[in-house]
Amino acid sequence: MAEEAAAKRTKTEMELGEGSEPDAAEAAQVEGESPGGVEITVKIDSKALQCRICSEPLKPPIFKCGAGHVLCCQCPEKLREVGDVLRLGTFCALCCKSTRYSRCVELEWFIDAMKVPCLNQSYGCNEFVSYQQKEKHESSCAHAPCYCPEDDCAFKAPACCLLDHLVTAHGWSPTNLGYNKPLKIPLARDCRFTLLVGEDMSLFLLTNTLTSIGSALAVVCVRPHESEPSYSCNISAAHGVADGKSEGRLVFQKNPHVSSSSLEGGVQLGNFFLLVPPELAESSSGELTVHIRIDRVAP
Ligand SMILES: [Zn+2]
Ligand SMILES: [Zn+2]
Ligand SMILES: [Zn+2]
Ligand SMILES: [Zn+2]
Repeated sequence: MAEEAAAKRTKTEMELGEGSEPDAAEAAQVEGESPGGVEITVKIDSKALQCRICSEPLKPPIFKCGAGHVLCCQCPEKLREVGDVLRLGTFCALCCKSTRYSRCVELEWFIDAMKVPCLNQSYGCNEFVSYQQKEKHESSCAHAPCYCPEDDCAFKAPACCLLDHLVTAHGWSPTNLGYNKPLKIPLARDCRFTLLVGEDMSLFLLTNTLTSIGSALAVVCVRPHESEPSYSCNISAAHGVADGKSEGRLVFQKNPHVSSSSLEGGVQLGNFFLLVPPELAESSSGELTVHIRIDRVAP
């Protein structure tokens, strides 16, 4: 291992010039090593990686005209169709003359070798991902932020930090939730949000939206993307027969798939909610007693 490290060091020194001491700026540029050689960090104008015609990001296959204008894989075909109509043959809209298109393998190679930081770098994702895989990574990056549901609060952060924020900044008291067993929650009439923290630290938000015909209760899993594991949920609310006169009443709802939301754009009442009529509330306090059970669904 030591010999290997020494060999790598020698290679770096040779590249920097024999006998020269790498200065701090140059040393800072050397980020790591890939199988092909030393990796360096660069910044680049994003326009350099866009199709010269449609401005879409260039991804292989990439084409170039005879004069070197680089185009995405869609544009040469579109230009050919226009050229057919105008009887110009194959032409380049930038050169304004007929041309031949060929693959721009130089840029394809460059793009294949390129890694970029994840969009969620400021939220703790330190991954450098292949330029072509950037969107795919970000669509499932666990560091993507979730949003504070309180009115007029712009806080956003990964789910674990959101939990801290809700407790410290808004004084929320999360309730621990064990899966596959019912939990009884007393719900004040004007309590809009109840935060439940699962055994695996997943966050669930029980939302209570007051409507003219009752309270709409819904559960959402607060996480940046729809991902594994999945959860199902049962919610029920009942009014007892404490006075011995009235019949007990129960409303019940089973949601086979609790939807996930980063809460970007606020809390949305989805398709699954339980409408609890006002009669089910405690007459003096207006409090509802809700039973909730969340199960982990086997993948
Ligand atoms: Zn294009
Ligand atoms: Zn051209
Ligand atoms: Zn990421
Ligand atoms: Zn907040």
